[in-house]
Amino acid sequence: MHTTLPEIGHMWVNGVAHDGRRYAIFAIAVWFTLWIVLSRVLRARKIREATPPPLQLLVEFFFSLRSVALFSTVGIGISLAQRAGLYPMAGWAQHAGLAWFLASLVAMIVAQDAWIYWSHRWMHRPRWFRTFHRRHHRSNNPSPFTAYSFDFGEAFLMVGFVAVWPAIFPTPWGVIDLFMFHQIFRNTLLHAGYELTPARADGRPWFGWLTTTTHHDLHHAQAGYNFAPWFTWWDRWLGTEHPEYLARYAAIARRPLKAPASPTPELLEA
Ligand SMILES: [Zn+2]
Ligand SMILES: [Zn+2]
Repeated sequence: MHTTLPEIGHMWVNGVAHDGRRYAIFAIAVWFTLWIVLSRVLRARKIREATPPPLQLLVEFFFSLRSVALFSTVGIGISLAQRAGLYPMAGWAQHAGLAWFLASLVAMIVAQDAWIYWSHRWMHRPRWFRTFHRRHHRSNNPSPFTAYSFDFGEAFLMVGFVAVWPAIFPTPWGVIDLFMFHQIFRNTLLHAGYELTPARADGRPWFGWLTTTTHHDLHHAQAGYNFAPWFTWWDRWLGTEHPEYLARYAAIARRPLKAPASPTPELLEA
């Protein structure tokens, strides 16, 4: 089927509106809820004493929307490739039933975690850091708006996974939308500056295999550790988990909510 230029333009605008709205809604909702409405109640859960200046948040917002625009551009390529029959496995997966739908959603998230872990470590090599990953680390103290604040190269690596995965793994198209939902949901919370995951009596996270906000916050503070986005597996297997991660997590997550201002020493820039 032939796709006209106005149709492509329409797809692009729709894509930007869809992903841009989702990013903006999550970022603004998390910021407004945690940083404004509940800031006093959750004071004991604030990871760092300092709060980023409003200008940082605005800049992050701008760069995140730029990433969304790139995602939509690649999204058009995916749609056109789909029409050209370049995703034959997706066609089979469309009719494979609910169990496969859920299994392929889990598979896609687990595979993305591995992809980000390895590409993230690669981006931290001195040779590539400036081109691919410096923008994200300009937010030494992140905010809910940091989620998609990427250099072009990093944004391309992120959306590249979405373009390639359905070609090598039978993934129904409906999974992609939930996958993107999971991505922005977790990503916004990882940068939110407040530790909200519940701790067990021994101070470890209830779901120790999931990353926490403290986990990723430590990466922004000391960039040699904690490269994985969603699960703690790769950092544990490869010895890149921050040696103080669990102690820092426990110090924040187990602090009584009515405790006075944060006694946690400020994290230093790496
Ligand atoms: Zn980050
Ligand atoms: Zn990094």
